Amino acid sequence: ELEVALKVVIVGNGGVGKSSMIQRYCNGTFTKDYKKTIGVDFLERQIEVDGEEVRLMLWDTAGQEEFDAITKAYYRGAQACVLAFSTTDRDSFEAAHSWKLKVENECGEIPTVIVQNKIDLMEQSVVNPEEADLLARALGCRLLRTSVKEDVNVAAVFRHLAARCLAE
Ligand code: GDP
Ligand code: MG
Repeated sequence: ELEVALKVVIVGNGGVGKSSMIQRYCNGTFTKDYKKTIGVDFLERQIEVDGEEVRLMLWDTAGQEEFDAITKAYYRGAQACVLAFSTTDRDSFEAAHSWKLKVENECGEIPTVIVQNKIDLMEQSVVNPEEADLLARALGCRLLRTSVKEDVNVAAVFRHLAARCLAE
């Protein structure tokens, strides 16, 4: 039986919780200051979708997103994308559109989920729900709201992407 392996890239401004999300999903942990392990390009987790084993390889950036210098190697061969912004960071929300274009440029049209992270901080929100819904509609993507800290909806993001990829 063929095993399906999917390369998933996680994009979005620095500080939105990308590394934390990978760490949470693959290792089940959450820390206040997650530092990328030197020499590790991605973490992986295997799940079952519709009776098929799917190996998800979640690629992290080493913080280069700050310098707009994510390399082509990061995007190469990516089959799915998580585009994240933070509930408490307006700039990260406004940047979502350009992240989408960047991924499209490097990878073409691949299944993408927009993630609004840090919903545990909803009382400090700088993005209203309607705006987030509109953004997702404009980009033609599903929107999922997550809290990596409280482990809300994180697994749903990757289940959704895996299912989308298998359906293609
Ligand atoms: P990255 O730069 O996108 O990789 O973001 P990080 O994963 O390094 O996270 C940046 C900060 O946000 C860290 O202090 C995390 O602990 C914190 N963080 C990540 N996810 C959440 C969340 O869902 N809720 C809260 N309150 N903090 C979070
Ligand atoms: Mg990071």
